[in-house]
Amino acid sequence: MAIITCPFCRQQISDKSKVCSHCDKDLNGDQQAALSAQRQSKYGKIQSINIQQMFAMLLFVGGFSLWYWQDKFDDQWYNQLGMAMIASGFVWYFVNRIRIVMLNRSSL
Ligand SMILES: [Zn+2]
Repeated sequence: MAIITCPFCRQQISDKSKVCSHCDKDLNGDQQAALSAQRQSKYGKIQSINIQQMFAMLLFVGGFSLWYWQDKFDDQWYNQLGMAMIASGFVWYFVNRIRIVMLNRSSL
């Protein structure tokens, strides 16, 4: 039996005890549950970013085809809409890429 420090209240407790005798926190369960909840929320965030990235790509491709086919429409409005879609799709895509890199850099 060894003496460890409780991660919640910083008091000295036995490493055999499952519940801290000072603050009554669950020493095994709580930490693991918190960790897996954090992992799950990170995974959910990455998934939602991936979906947004897909939409950003669609926006970009849609804008590009609008811009590409503008001659057929012969309308300045289509040209500007296409340009706006390309620009926002491009920016949106890169913002999402950066968000994924930042998430992956954070621990866990
Ligand atoms: Zn404690």
